[in-house]
Amino acid sequence: MIRAFVALDLPYELKGTLAAAVERLTERNRGVRWVRPEGMHLTLKFLGDIPETDVQPIAGDLDVAAGPCSPLRLRLSGFGAFPGPKKARVVWVGVSGDTEALGSLAKRVDEACASHGIPRERRPFAGHITLGRLRVPSVVDLRVEPVQGAFVAEEIVLYRSELSPGGARYTPLHKSRLKGTGG
Ligand code: ATP
Ligand code: MG
Repeated sequence: MIRAFVALDLPYELKGTLAAAVERLTERNRGVRWVRPEGMHLTLKFLGDIPETDVQPIAGDLDVAAGPCSPLRLRLSGFGAFPGPKKARVVWVGVSGDTEALGSLAKRVDEACASHGIPRERRPFAGHITLGRLRVPSVVDLRVEPVQGAFVAEEIVLYRSELSPGGARYTPLHKSRLKGTGG
């Protein structure tokens, strides 16, 4: 089986911006496992474990799902935490811009995955880039200088995730272009 998820990759420069933000957040928040800059991404759909033989068919359906969507213009917005800053499990930075189109894309990806037996997402989609994780939900202090950055996502990526004590390793398995020209 392959642990897989679909995400937007981030430009190298933006990962540098986020790494600087993580440095500032680290000073105020000890005990958070911060994401390495090279591993930063915006998850559209977590597939969980899928049989290796499903990778190609799912990849094909992701192409179909992504095809009509236009490239997404997104900007970094504020820091936040799930489920909240008083009992955080995940520290993230949000995005603004084409968030409505991002939500529709996530829905199309969810549908494509559902056609391969992957359970549909029940929670509403909230686009975010995870910066850190806490084993024990704790209070976090996110009052650091805001980050500024923008990017255009022109493809979605199907990643393999391999978990290890040293942190997750992500390998791109397939990329689907966002080729749409309007709407
Ligand atoms: P680790 O689990 O070691 O902290 P990780 O969370 O980065 O590492 P995965 O658990 O494989 O690695 O997750 C891959 C991506 O999918 C991450 O962005 C993660 O936040 C997201 N993800 C994982 N589980 C779920 C889930 N149940 N629902 C939604 N997204 C998830
Ligand atoms: Mg995880």
